Amino acid sequence: MVINYPPSLKMSKINICVVKVGKVEDFVILSLQSGLKVNFGWEVKLIGEFEIPSQSYNRIRRQFHSTTILHHIKSQFKTDDCFIVLGITSVDLYVEGLNFVFGEAKPSDKVCIISIHRLRPEFYNDKPDMKIFERRILTEAIHEIGHLFNLRHCLNPNCVMFFSNSIIDTDRKGFLFCSKCQSKLGILK
Ligand SMILES: [Zn+2]
Ligand SMILES: [Zn+2]
Repeated sequence: MVINYPPSLKMSKINICVVKVGKVEDFVILSLQSGLKVNFGWEVKLIGEFEIPSQSYNRIRRQFHSTTILHHIKSQFKTDDCFIVLGITSVDLYVEGLNFVFGEAKPSDKVCIISIHRLRPEFYNDKPDMKIFERRILTEAIHEIGHLFNLRHCLNPNCVMFFSNSIIDTDRKGFLFCSKCQSKLGILK
């Protein structure tokens, strides 16, 4: 499905640099590359891969602290060539006060991260489904990228900027911006 966005957004020269944080299958990156290109005209480049910083691991929770990883990404990469840096990881992420997060964004650093851990249908004991998995990856990536454009959570449950409390929210809202968020994006240039 190809969506026509306002010209200002479509024409922006947006370089999204992707870094793998730990092992991530190549098809995840390829799928995201084509999804962002086809729907938004955004270019995605894979710029590297590094190990998950050990200090981000919480032994009690058995999860990784996403804010620590964001700091690590920021310190590891010169982001001058990148408009945005998007980290992708397979491990489960958390921030204080929440059981888990699908991702996190730090707009001031233009860095964000998503985890694919809870996006696989198998996580919910459903049968593997690449289409669903890839749509969820695109949805969560666009949500975090939206934050990097200073978009906040949207109250429209069918907008990608709606906060996902669970995978049900992610599947319902999909990867499109509502008209309000679209117009906010359109003037952010
Ligand atoms: Zn959010
Ligand atoms: Zn919205």
